Amino acid sequence: MAASYGRPVTTIEPGDSTASDDAQSVLDEARAVLDPLEQRAGVDMEALDHARRLLLVHAHPDDETIGTGATMAKYAAEGALVTLVTCTLGEEGEILVPGLEHLAAGRDDALGPHRADELAVAMEALRVTDHRILGGPGRWRDSGMMGLPTNDAPGCFWQADLDQATNELVKIIRDVRPQVVITYDPNGGYGHPDHIQAHRVTVAAVERAGDPTRAPEAGEPWEVAKLYWSAIPKSFLQAAIEAMRDTPNNIFEGVESADDLPMGVTDEQITAQVDATGHLDAKLAAMRAHATQISVDGFFFALSNKLGFQAFGLEHYTLARGEGGAGEGPHGWEPDLFAGLA
Ligand SMILES: [Zn+2]
Repeated sequence: MAASYGRPVTTIEPGDSTASDDAQSVLDEARAVLDPLEQRAGVDMEALDHARRLLLVHAHPDDETIGTGATMAKYAAEGALVTLVTCTLGEEGEILVPGLEHLAAGRDDALGPHRADELAVAMEALRVTDHRILGGPGRWRDSGMMGLPTNDAPGCFWQADLDQATNELVKIIRDVRPQVVITYDPNGGYGHPDHIQAHRVTVAAVERAGDPTRAPEAGEPWEVAKLYWSAIPKSFLQAAIEAMRDTPNNIFEGVESADDLPMGVTDEQITAQVDATGHLDAKLAAMRAHATQISVDGFFFALSNKLGFQAFGLEHYTLARGEGGAGEGPHGWEPDLFAGLA
């Protein structure tokens, strides 16, 4: 790809890839959804000095939107600098768009550049302008689901040298100087090797970034004030299981309890809830941008109809490092990831 990934702001030019005409038309369709969003009153970014800086580390394009998209849109709209670091281009993903199956790893192996384009459209929807690929595009490849032979491929993120990957992220942390960093929990949310690796790299990089004796070539030390793990409440999953029961294409078929799923944490483990329901339109537009991965007719959208779209604008986190600020509500959850920071 000819797009520049240089600092400080990376843009991925949509269409600048090996994508076919079909792939381009799918992207154009996703972008068309953005037009009404353009009308929304925005914050004058020029007038703000980005006093608040939020950095998110995700494994594949689409993870940022599904798990944290509303949060990203909310803080970007409020004038915070939101930086997304994606560790791989998701080359091993399945393809849900008929006609684009040829992009798959086993055929043309051209899914990565296409997903970079999808991600660029999603970032337009969320109004996030600073997006980077860890180590540059193609540096580490999608490892595929846990247990697959792709886990052993040289160059995949699961096989990454942890020290090298950590230093790449240290460079970004010291450049952006975020007060708040978000990644996955130690199990990567649900056990995907790239998510687990993203967790390991982020925890190590946050630690190293603040240590003046480590990686001096990677910039001035920066102490991250708060590190969060993204979280899905089991109570939400339980509601989803019940809402989807006896419906067609029930992804929870045979599952009675949220305790039987590989993801989810108790309400007690959660420490923050970001209410970004006002930015749900941006999150949903970003989901549509990830068309090869998320079907508008599929499970997620069926679920959001059943549960109410509002539920998808509430995103949850567990504070893993740093001091929490004032909480509220029945659980005492922080309403703001920057709570307690000067
Ligand atoms: Zn992922």
